[in-house]
Amino acid sequence: MAISATIAMSAKSRSLISQGLDVINLSLGEPDFNTPDVIKNAAKEAIDQNYSKYTPIAGFDELKQAISNKFKRENNIAYKKSEIVVSTGAKQSLANVILALIDEGDEVLLPAPYWVSYAEQIKLAGGIPREIPTTIDTDFKITPQQLQEAITSKTKMIIYSSPCNPSGSLYTREELDELAEIILRKEDLFILADEIYEYINFTGIPHASMASNPAIWDRVITVNGVAKGFAMTGWRIGYIGAPEWICNASAKIQGQFTSGANAVAQRATITALNYGIELTTEMKIAFEKRRNLVFNLLCDIPGIIVNKPQGAFYFFPDVSTYFGKTFGDEVISNAQDLCLFILNKGLVATVPGDAFGDSNCLRISYATSEEVLVEAMGRISKVLKLLK
Ligand code: PMP
Repeated sequence: MAISATIAMSAKSRSLISQGLDVINLSLGEPDFNTPDVIKNAAKEAIDQNYSKYTPIAGFDELKQAISNKFKRENNIAYKKSEIVVSTGAKQSLANVILALIDEGDEVLLPAPYWVSYAEQIKLAGGIPREIPTTIDTDFKITPQQLQEAITSKTKMIIYSSPCNPSGSLYTREELDELAEIILRKEDLFILADEIYEYINFTGIPHASMASNPAIWDRVITVNGVAKGFAMTGWRIGYIGAPEWICNASAKIQGQFTSGANAVAQRATITALNYGIELTTEMKIAFEKRRNLVFNLLCDIPGIIVNKPQGAFYFFPDVSTYFGKTFGDEVISNAQDLCLFILNKGLVATVPGDAFGDSNCLRISYATSEEVLVEAMGRISKVLKLLK
């Protein structure tokens, strides 16, 4: 297995920081906001109420009810409590489902760019990741025809995130329904819909969930969590909504690996989800301002080609015009070289696109203050001018 590229870049930048260098870390996918006070208060109460025992494997009943209500209210999906499993972060939710459904030799389609951990989890389950390449020209989204051409007799699953990490692209209701039509043509083909960035959506149009289309509901596993929208990355709560047999299999795996998720964090999540999207609006507005700011700054850097992300908090610029350029003896052959150059000379940490299935790009997280973002873009612009 490969080590997570985002974590590796972050470790490198931390090591430069420990040498006293003023590194700006734009490599991690983590909101810089604090968890809202009402959620923190719910956790404090839970501690005082002695929520300190093992929890049911698939999650507290009240939490599953809050999740079921959330799915109905915000996504127009009907999931009963028995069709929900709570896990230690969406990462574990994904791992449970992949381990449960993917057998040796099964192919899993990944519209590229995709989130780093999908490919490694698929390989761990014995499956074969098959990338469907996209480019910035289609806003990094696949077309129904591309999907149709990628499906083979061995295809078992397709995994996508919308809003997408790393491209910030979002599939519309119409686009999802068109993809659903293709998926339904093959028996036993499942969709893992990663909706963890749901609340960070700048389109003004409500989030579209694959599973709210009743024709395909029983093929979909909807993954979500509190990490991104509620600024709760460290609380480690994710969940799935899916047909009961998939939930049972996921819970079985979780029961042998980690058991039920953290008790206090689950209680806090009940409060978070009962408030829902309203609690996250201020953070979304701040992300949108930063998106607009960084978009303008990136557009001003010669040679960088960038799409305007519609959600999440990343840019995924195509930087391939810099490949082949030099600084003294140093040759920039690929995105990794460029990332290291920007880190070593400009003291800004980003992540090479290879890990996300696109070697022409870099991922830049903008989950930090406007002041820091202006400084970081200035540094990137300055060091790129050194390349001849
Ligand atoms: N899916 C995507 C697309 C992500 O970006 C992340 C976090 N970086 C996760 C899942 C995992 O979320 P969690 O922190 O809840 O495990």
